[in-house]
Amino acid sequence: MKTDVVIIGGGVMGASIALELSKTGRKVIVLDKGGAPGAGSTSASSAIIRFTYSNFNTILMAWENAQIWFNWDKFVGVQDPDGMAKYVKTGYLVFLTEGYDGVRQRELWDEFGIPYELLSPEEVRKRWPAFETGKFYPPKSIEDPAFADDPYDQLWALFDPLSGFMDDPMLAAHNMAHAAKAHGAEFRFHTEVTEVLRDGGRASGVVLKNGERIESQFVINAAGPHAAKVNKLAGVFDEMKVKHQPLRQEVFSPPAPKGFRLEDDAPIVADLDLGQYFRPHMGDLLNVGTTEPACDPLHFIDDADNWNDNTTPEFAERVMLRLARRLPDFGIPLKTLGIGALYDVSDDWIPIYDKSSLPGFFMACGTSGNQFKNAPLVGKFMRVLMEAEEQGIDHDLTPLSVTGEHTGKEIHLDAFSRLRTSGETAGNVMG
Ligand SMILES: Cc1cc2nc3c(=O)[nH]c(=O)nc-3n(C[C@H](O)[C@H](O)[C@H](O)COP(=O)(O)OP(=O)(O)OC[C@H]3O[C@@H](n4cnc5c(N)ncnc54)[C@H](O)[C@@H]3O)c2cc1C
Repeated sequence: MKTDVVIIGGGVMGASIALELSKTGRKVIVLDKGGAPGAGSTSASSAIIRFTYSNFNTILMAWENAQIWFNWDKFVGVQDPDGMAKYVKTGYLVFLTEGYDGVRQRELWDEFGIPYELLSPEEVRKRWPAFETGKFYPPKSIEDPAFADDPYDQLWALFDPLSGFMDDPMLAAHNMAHAAKAHGAEFRFHTEVTEVLRDGGRASGVVLKNGERIESQFVINAAGPHAAKVNKLAGVFDEMKVKHQPLRQEVFSPPAPKGFRLEDDAPIVADLDLGQYFRPHMGDLLNVGTTEPACDPLHFIDDADNWNDNTTPEFAERVMLRLARRLPDFGIPLKTLGIGALYDVSDDWIPIYDKSSLPGFFMACGTSGNQFKNAPLVGKFMRVLMEAEEQGIDHDLTPLSVTGEHTGKEIHLDAFSRLRTSGETAGNVMG
């Protein structure tokens, strides 16, 4: 069988790429070993849409993508009979603490026209009395006796009113997959890619687990936490300067304390002072995760097919006790509601959207627990990279850029190159 493009992975990335490429007339086949669009790590996503990143390109990209989420139905362009994902606007509060003074953030937000307020501890408590605004820095393990120390100072915060989250990340992937199908893309599930074919020095298709061969002009790796394995299959992993691998994480959904539910206008919170993030969720719940503070061990894993997707007491206790420091009315829940999930983490926690050393083989990976929000524009990035290759332009030597439709500013794609050697980054899920 022959097609123009094979996309390995039908998560939010694969679906976005399929939509963009099928709209521009390419014949696309998406192959996914799971059972539905977005059923991989996308389904576990907290789906937070925020603009706090560390550098020009990452903040600009998040702000440009946000405009798409704000107008989701228009972007998708085809009404999905299974329903359309919805944007829930909450605003986003980030506490200013050691190592995060928000100065660079504010400079870039000013440049891009992103609205925000700088709030004193008193103003934070006036708006959301549920908060303890004391400073606990540095984040500590709960076994450390100093974990229980009283706060020793007060925290200021930045608040942006436009951030929010998508109510159903898997449905968002489904929406794009449905629209891509309407433009002619084919999605095949329960279909695992086991080999990347080469012919005449370029990628020429894939082989499936059942032995079937699909020939194609382009192959795109959007395999999420399996992406490193697929890059190794294609023989392009070793030349990458930025490596990536699966990291196991857990997120929890405990009941929200009074004053911190959606109906209380509670914001999404980034709390690097304690090493956590949380947001209100539907059903009077919270969604809570960690920001990989230095005191937490990181659980990198070798095999994205063999790991524990249940929660563990180690994570649960850490997350609940940290939350109780910031929201004193948070009661430790009787039941632990949560999941284990995988990030595909790059060395610097910035994603890799790039060509490879193998002509015809491209990658959208290393999404580091923070790229759901950027998926809509990744389709365009990959199209631009592929078109450049067709025109004989080597992106490694002549870096490409994409103009943001909202700001008119250039997003420089070399910021996401597999060959980058340095970049401003938080070095954790904040990106
Ligand atoms: C717990 C958690 C919380 C997160 N929170 C946020 C957040 O708040 N905001 C944010 O912006 N981002 C967040 N992220 C990150 C974001 O969700 C991911 O970056 C994004 O969903 C990754 O999408 P993907 O399509 O690359 O991967 P996936 O959704 O994992 O899709 C990859 C697909 O590839 C398939 N596949 C793999 N190997 C093969 C193969 N050999 N053959 C065929 N198919 C294959 C898999 O079955 C899978 O369906 C979070 C992630 C997690 C895990």
